[in-house]
Amino acid sequence: MNLRLKSYVAIQRIKNSISISGCIGKDLLFEYNDDNIALLNSLSTEAGICPDKLINCHLFQQLKENALLEETPTKELKRNEAYYQYANIDFNKIREKRILVLGAGAAGGTITYLLVQQGFTNIMCVDDDKVEVGDVEKTMVYNISDIGKYKVVALWQRVMSNFNIDIKQQRNRLSTASQVRKIIKSYSPDIVVYAIDPAPSFKLVLNQLCIRLNVPIIHASYSYEKILCGPCVVPHQTACMVGYNEYWRKRTNNTFDFYDISKISSSRLVHPSISFNINTLSSIVLKDIIFCLSGNFEIVSTFNRLLIINLLTSDISVNELSCKFCSTCEAKRTIDGI
Ligand SMILES: [Zn+2]
Repeated sequence: MNLRLKSYVAIQRIKNSISISGCIGKDLLFEYNDDNIALLNSLSTEAGICPDKLINCHLFQQLKENALLEETPTKELKRNEAYYQYANIDFNKIREKRILVLGAGAAGGTITYLLVQQGFTNIMCVDDDKVEVGDVEKTMVYNISDIGKYKVVALWQRVMSNFNIDIKQQRNRLSTASQVRKIIKSYSPDIVVYAIDPAPSFKLVLNQLCIRLNVPIIHASYSYEKILCGPCVVPHQTACMVGYNEYWRKRTNNTFDFYDISKISSSRLVHPSISFNINTLSSIVLKDIIFCLSGNFEIVSTFNRLLIINLLTSDISVNELSCKFCSTCEAKRTIDGI
């Protein structure tokens, strides 16, 4: 079987060296000489070369050890596929994972769109709002012709026409434990994406359900100039939202507690959200969903962490969470289901 360079391997000359990119976190350097260039040229061809006579070749062995070679014939990769191969992920293993997105607003709608664009095929989106002018101004998901339609309907139409993927849609204004319990038990998601903004205590209600059913949940929100990515709560492996609540209590000298907060709504309230906040948030969450579903927790930015990013000042704070003496986390071992 012949071998050739993988399609994403890039080669450059830097003075008297050859720099080869394609390994995560490092470039390989070799001497620039005629033999090495001839070998790389041969390895760059469609047919590749027979490896039998290259056992003692340092350059060849290094390329092989760093997984930069592939057997021929191998079908050419699309850009997304090449990225997953580079990142050591078998996307086909996670393509059909069940993803429940709560919320089809700016963040939830964008995340859902990005998930389908990546190739995920099994998504349910829950929301009960209609598309307004503001949704068209701050997202790329909704068009002016969508104004007045239910968001889940407009979103379904958009991904159906762009990608021919039939996402499940449910019109529901989630606010009670029984509503979300019913959805989670009937859909059996592999991960829940939390992109809604109900009463703060609802986070803890959902947290308890997901811990008991062993379903990871990732949170996405934004507030004024900040985006809040995560935390990604993986039952049995990370702190849960009780730890998140503890984090805010400590940060605010016990004044901020999800159990004690209720919204005093104003009909004139307009969150000053903007597309670069929403798109940054959605992209980070998308990336973490992919790596969470593939089990690569070490590169999930929000795994047990809350990332607060201020896009006005470029400040990024990474906040590790912990759950000490947490009854919700402990209960997971004794309660089977809800
Ligand atoms: Zn906990």
